[in-house]
Amino acid sequence: MSQVYKGVQFIPGQDDFIPDSHVYVIGDPASGDISLVDAGLTGKGAYKAASITKLGIGPEDVKRVIMTHTHLDHIGCLAELQKTFPGAELWVHELEADLLEKGDDRAVYGMDMFKGMCQMQFSLAPDAFRFKVDRKLEGGETLEIGNMVWEVIHIPGHSMGGIALYEPVGKVLIPGDVVYADYAIGRFDLFGANPAQLKDSLDRLSKLDVDILLPGHNQIVKGVPAGYIRKTTKMWEPYLV
Ligand SMILES: [Zn+2]
Ligand SMILES: [Zn+2]
Repeated sequence: MSQVYKGVQFIPGQDDFIPDSHVYVIGDPASGDISLVDAGLTGKGAYKAASITKLGIGPEDVKRVIMTHTHLDHIGCLAELQKTFPGAELWVHELEADLLEKGDDRAVYGMDMFKGMCQMQFSLAPDAFRFKVDRKLEGGETLEIGNMVWEVIHIPGHSMGGIALYEPVGKVLIPGDVVYADYAIGRFDLFGANPAQLKDSLDRLSKLDVDILLPGHNQIVKGVPAGYIRKTTKMWEPYLV
């Protein structure tokens, strides 16, 4: 757990045989209006809840969980966090929110083979990923939360309802699994993925002025070199058709 920017705390994922996504805790701690960005893999909720509590954030301060997308490594422990933070709303892009509400878990598992394996490994019930979504995002929203302003950008391609959150003052970008450090991008072979859309999404992110890159996995980067996302996109362009 560390502060990466005023009002942005970083809880690193604890990867297992499947990756566990990072969680970002956003909002001025004094505001009593805290948001969690993503949850993590099934079974990885307890240490995250403990980290958040250690910051002095009470259960009633966590007002919402915003999902960058609903893959298992991001939404797997959502129900665990909801037990600790029962008042937290769930905000998801509408394209994946509609699936969650129907209990359609194709976007969670990404592929059938993986679904069977995970259900067995984690003893998951068939309807483990049916959730009520409190706010369906479309992209283009400006969220005034926790004494900060975050822009929502729809960036499909890795998943159909992927979003990025962007804070223009600190030039902070939370892109989920669309772009990582080390010139890596998210995979584009799972359910709902689309390489051409991923290219368009990367182009959209390339236009942002980014100083702090906070991806869903692996390294976070402070002092992102100018043109980093553009350069990454160029490298991957031949595959994104
Ligand atoms: Zn993902
Ligand atoms: Zn992920």
